[in-house]
Amino acid sequence: MKCPKCHNEVTEDQQYCPSCGAKIKAQSRFSKKLEAENKQRDHKKKMELKEEERQKKIIAEKGLKNKYSLYPIIFGGLGTAVVLWPAGYAIQIQWWYVTIIFILGAIGYYFAIKANKLNEKYFQHHRVRVDAKRIKIGVYLCAFTLLAGAMMLMVVVPYYFPM
Ligand SMILES: [Zn+2]
Repeated sequence: MKCPKCHNEVTEDQQYCPSCGAKIKAQSRFSKKLEAENKQRDHKKKMELKEEERQKKIIAEKGLKNKYSLYPIIFGGLGTAVVLWPAGYAIQIQWWYVTIIFILGAIGYYFAIKANKLNEKYFQHHRVRVDAKRIKIGVYLCAFTLLAGAMMLMVVVPYYFPM
């Protein structure tokens, strides 16, 4: 633990800081736990950063590229834009509108699968994944698109086929 005044490292049984003489308050179990958790989180973050740097270096050295990584974002982004577009109920209830949304989401997802498959290959050979974050964002956009499409379908189907 650290001295609250000068941040000198002190042991737990010391009542006064050997460096500045400040009184050391015994830590509560809770703050000890908190400190341990913070330390663990910092460590994890540091390791992740280190791993990211390592991967970046290998990717640059070998010139690895994931040619599919941009398409999930493009199609998922387009799908999301169509979903959020204030087209109005009259258009949103159309089959073609929902179909466009499904097609965009599905194409984006298809490329996400391709991108991840290529990354698995890279991981086996070089222990790296190329554009992993970009692919993840794309997957989220595609998932949102498909989910919204499914919800719209629940409105469209009863509209054309009333029970
Ligand atoms: Zn001190």
